[in-house]
Amino acid sequence: MAEGYKIPRGTFDILPSESYKWNYVMATFRRIAESYGYHQITTPIFEQSDLFERSVGDATDIIQKEMYRFQDRKGRSLALRPEGTAPVVRSFVENNLLYEKKGNRLYYMGPMFRYDRPQKGRYRQFYQYGVENFGSDHPYIDAEVIALGYSFLKELGLTDFSLEINSIGTAKSSEVHNAALSAYFEPHLEELCADCRTRLNKNPKRLLDCKVPSCRAIAGNAPSMLAYLDEESAAHFARVQEYLTLMEIPFTINPTIVRGLDYYSKTAFEYINNNLGSQNALAGGGRYDTLVEQLGGKATTGIGFAGGFERLILSMEQENLSFGEVPHPRIFLVSLGDEAEKTAIKLLTDLHNAGISAAFDVDKTTLNAQMKAAGKSDTDFTGIMGDDEIKSGKISLKNMRSGEQILIPINELITFLKKN
Ligand code: AMP
Repeated sequence: MAEGYKIPRGTFDILPSESYKWNYVMATFRRIAESYGYHQITTPIFEQSDLFERSVGDATDIIQKEMYRFQDRKGRSLALRPEGTAPVVRSFVENNLLYEKKGNRLYYMGPMFRYDRPQKGRYRQFYQYGVENFGSDHPYIDAEVIALGYSFLKELGLTDFSLEINSIGTAKSSEVHNAALSAYFEPHLEELCADCRTRLNKNPKRLLDCKVPSCRAIAGNAPSMLAYLDEESAAHFARVQEYLTLMEIPFTINPTIVRGLDYYSKTAFEYINNNLGSQNALAGGGRYDTLVEQLGGKATTGIGFAGGFERLILSMEQENLSFGEVPHPRIFLVSLGDEAEKTAIKLLTDLHNAGISAAFDVDKTTLNAQMKAAGKSDTDFTGIMGDDEIKSGKISLKNMRSGEQILIPINELITFLKKN
């Protein structure tokens, strides 16, 4: 036998036994996002690589190390999308969504790609959900976007998470803070990890969220971003907190939340689940007031967040939460004899046409084998037809949950199943 193929490192199959969990969290996200007035947008999986280089930032890990770039046959440089915001902004600008009724509140779901070292909760192809809100820089909108994420996690039943917020100010205040950070970290250069040493010149803020313990210890006393906020950002941040308090959404302020991407300004936030280990961010986002203009659009403010479905499902499993009903047939037909088999097949067609999930195992001939197959399928009812039943136009129906068995006319079966 030829040797089989292996799935690429850092990717995974969503197997049939797990699919219902994904469908459940996706449907829940869709419902919550739509209840906040968001409309779905779906962009391609690949874009011009330049789109990400310009927006996410040349010096970020995503661009430097993690992006899957490739050339197509015409030599165009393309990239598998590493994140969802830049493509949504690209589409927002390209399609003039600013002027459309459904254009300002957008949500998306889909795969993202990053070449990183795979570990629990970190994959090379992962699936994100996210929202983007355009056109208002009112602090209420920040709170509302944060509330949407909070509602979603709560709706799924999660309790082991916390919301951490920060403000990273404007580009101007950020520059002053960066200078203070460089001056602070410079004398510690020798003690920093290799990544942080290169980050120091390019993006000193990134040193604040390095996970290496020795770097963390040094970063603990670094100058806080909040001390460097310009007046407007500080006022904005205070109002966001007031709105969150009004909405009864608990939060803590964490001045080390910097987000790994260049385009953020003012509010930044993350939902953290500490039981997840080192990959503990359930979702994260922030304001990006200059990104639309930077990508060629009319100056338009924006704010959004994204989260990964993998960590979400992992968190739900850790908290033993329900993913809704496990899909199973409503009825499993068991037949004995040639006539009964024909009736069963006709009945099966009627059931499928009526939208009722129904199963039948044509390969099993004995009653015993068919009953076993029915049990395994986790069906609600087993419908048994032998020659006697067929003659009287009836089907013997066993309720697999209660064990109760009744005899009903075949032509009443669909109505019965719809009612019970
Ligand atoms: P980011 O775009 O890096 O801010 O990530 C937002 C969210 O996406 C994170 O909080 C995670 O839930 C998820 N995420 C990011 N990168 C990965 C990855 N490599 N594997 C799985 N989930 C990820």
